[in-house]
Amino acid sequence: MEFKKLFIPGPTMVHPDVLAKMATPMIGHRSKDASDLQRRITEKMRKLMFTSGKIVLSTSSGTGLMEGAIRNATAKRAMVFSIGAFGDRWHELAKFNGIEADIHRETDGHPTMPATVDKYLSMGKYDVVTITHNETSVGIMNPIEGIAEVIRKYPDIVWLVDCVSSLAGAKVEVDKLGIDICITSSQKALALPPGLALASVSKKAEERFEKVGNVGYYFDIKNLIKYIDKKDHQYSSTPSLSHMFALDFQLDRIEKEGLENRFIRHIEMAEFMIEWANKYFKVFCTPGFESMTVTCIANTRNINVADLNKELGKLKMQISNGYGDLKDKTFRIAHMGELNMDDMLEVTGAIEDILKLK
Ligand SMILES: *Cc1c(COP(=O)(O)O)cnc(C)c1O
Repeated sequence: MEFKKLFIPGPTMVHPDVLAKMATPMIGHRSKDASDLQRRITEKMRKLMFTSGKIVLSTSSGTGLMEGAIRNATAKRAMVFSIGAFGDRWHELAKFNGIEADIHRETDGHPTMPATVDKYLSMGKYDVVTITHNETSVGIMNPIEGIAEVIRKYPDIVWLVDCVSSLAGAKVEVDKLGIDICITSSQKALALPPGLALASVSKKAEERFEKVGNVGYYFDIKNLIKYIDKKDHQYSSTPSLSHMFALDFQLDRIEKEGLENRFIRHIEMAEFMIEWANKYFKVFCTPGFESMTVTCIANTRNINVADLNKELGKLKMQISNGYGDLKDKTFRIAHMGELNMDDMLEVTGAIEDILKLK
């Protein structure tokens, strides 16, 4: 196998020391050590998410907790605001679980605006709203503060936010924003191997769970919380302890870097990439809503992205093509997790050479 420096929006590169923690010998998942491990992770995740809510772990990718969240939280009807493929996924999840849901889909490149959210919520039909904080398919970071202000006016709404590709790369103040369930995956800005998902859960969400009937078995969040409360931070089945060892260690590394430093590092990489993309191509999305973790670039020069990636591969680097219908119309360069400015200079320099950009 050929290992390359990954500039794709997940999985991202994992630091060797973190990777080594995945090889920690096993412990019993009903032991005190397992409880201590999960409690430590909980405390550190609360700091990273700016919340005092419950922290649930799931041995699944993020999609599993998205499915659990919409199924556990919707008693009446869910309203899905989508600006791309991952927003659409919420609606699919609702549909496949037999949950009543509507979707408002922006055309590619446009964010969810607070006024749009207000328009739908004022109908009084909904008790759940889903928002994608960072839509990885189009490189947009939604105006979460403005949306939070609107949602605050509707106290019956349980607010689910997909922060899969933003958390640990951008500041998401869960309690201040009033997010009820904030979901992330291990393999994006947290920079761990894929296979673990995490979410914060508010009191309001917990109260809602009591009112919802059949929620299936594996993603019954109420049950996950029962094992946290009654078994002192354990998991309802056998968790991926390997991920937990690695996460515990990675969260220490993140704390050592400093949260603010980490967010600034991501902002610097994003600002550099936006400027670079606009110099040689064009950033795909509406200006002002660019993602801080992945830049989606409109293919204005009609380059062959597959060929570019082949050439980058010879230099042991890999970027991402566009998502779905945008496959050749855009390409994406991620700047999250372990990457830094030197890496961004390396990849953009290589692209300039390969394409002979001036
Ligand atoms: C990657 C991604 C997902 C899917 O997460 P998985 O961990 O692959 O299930 C969902 N939403 C966004 C915004 C993503 O970037």
